Amino acid sequence: MTTTQVVNPATEQVVTTLELVSAAETDAAIERAQRAGADWRAVAPGDRARLLRRFAEAVDANLEQLAQLEVANAGHTIGNARWEAGNVRDVLHFAAGIPERLLGNQIPVAGGVDITFHEPLGVVAVIVPWNFPMPIAAWGFGPALAAGNTVVLKPAELTPLTAIRLGELALEAGVPEGVFQVLPGKGSVVGQRFVTHPAVRKVVFTGSTEVGKEIMAGCARQVKRVTLELGGKSANIIFADADLERAAATAPYGVFDNAGQDCCARSRILVQRSVFDRFLELLEPAVRGVRVGDPAAESTEMGPLISAAHRARVASFVEPSTKVAFTGTQPDGPGFWYPPTVVLPDAPSDRVLTEEVFGPVVAVVPFEDEADAVRIANDTEYGLSGSIWTNDVGRALRVSRGVEAGNLSVNSHSSVRYWTPFGGFKQSGLGRELGPDAALAFTETKNVFIAT
Ligand code: NAP
Ligand code: MG
Repeated sequence: MTTTQVVNPATEQVVTTLELVSAAETDAAIERAQRAGADWRAVAPGDRARLLRRFAEAVDANLEQLAQLEVANAGHTIGNARWEAGNVRDVLHFAAGIPERLLGNQIPVAGGVDITFHEPLGVVAVIVPWNFPMPIAAWGFGPALAAGNTVVLKPAELTPLTAIRLGELALEAGVPEGVFQVLPGKGSVVGQRFVTHPAVRKVVFTGSTEVGKEIMAGCARQVKRVTLELGGKSANIIFADADLERAAATAPYGVFDNAGQDCCARSRILVQRSVFDRFLELLEPAVRGVRVGDPAAESTEMGPLISAAHRARVASFVEPSTKVAFTGTQPDGPGFWYPPTVVLPDAPSDRVLTEEVFGPVVAVVPFEDEADAVRIANDTEYGLSGSIWTNDVGRALRVSRGVEAGNLSVNSHSSVRYWTPFGGFKQSGLGRELGPDAALAFTETKNVFIAT
């Protein structure tokens, strides 16, 4: 039996030791999910809605416990962790609206009636990374369950605790056995079985682009449906006409939130050359002002990185030759800390500009004009999110249309609302989650013609 130690990244203390699920146990869980599917898809739409609403209410009643678990397991700030647990509740409430609104079409035809149905896929597998364990899990299981699928979910090995609790809360809320199962285990064991087991009809994967490509290739063998939410190298584009004070005051939070371990992190700040120096002057106090420390403290804005190995990877991006403009603070003592760091790259080919750091390191780069800004923003294999700061509404719209990314915000850094679509262009992913069409990623359209 293989076990894993769950470690608090702010203290380096062991929180708990867990048994990892084996390949045979994964097969058994997938088969339970398959058996449970026949009854689950037959539950009346209103009853399925009611169960999801009850699940949402159970999450809400345990919101503080879930948040505290995430603080201990992932080092998320308590403020963020409460938002994340609240997001699970909201995604479930939104999903509860789906069963009664999964409308098909009636299409005019000669000699009969033509109607479409949105049929569930069957068993859906969700593979979750360690950076946002709760929301990313819910974006998969919420709409998948609502559309009549059963779900097997693998949390990241480093952060299984909240997912395990959500699995218990689903049962407590009355979701039948086998409909939603959480399987803590290794990607190479549980995750791989999701890809290769023929009863799994779809894999929803969030994680690195590298692993995402393997999952997609594996799924191709069975023409298995796949949604991929992968990495990012998003740009925060600041034009000279913008409210520079606000742009500079908010830029740290657009990249250092969750210690930069965010696929939407605006890790490249592009600044129009005429205001480049002024912007850096304004950015410095904002970066130094980010409150880094004990994630359980209410006022903390940034916690530690997830692990020692990840901190070493992040640190490798700041080489001895790297020009560091300035850094923020970090606490002393145990914990996988890394300070907010602002670098000025020498060349467009610098690793810090081309690769996802997934930590609190941001590169600031000048641009000349609108066309140059769009060109630099698009000079990456990624295309997940981005921000545009300008007071010219025409420019805001032109640049929004020009940037190849799935989630853009103007004069703001928001990316995620459960009722708007989320996902990436290019190698940032495939498919969309959340939003009005969330359920359609978990159904097949069936067309039926009835001769009259
Ligand atoms: P990762 O190594 O790709 O792992 C993600 C998940 O996949 C984990 O649960 C992992 O399990 C599992 N896994 C690993 N190898 C697998 C395999 N061969 N087959 C099946 N499953 C496998 O990513 P990570 O290091 O946890 O997360 C960081 C990455 O996620 C970043 O690149 C980030 O940009 C990306 N991300 C993207 C989004 C988005 O929505 N676009 C959101 C969040 C994160 P183990 O834990 O056992 O390794
Ligand atoms: Mg990994």
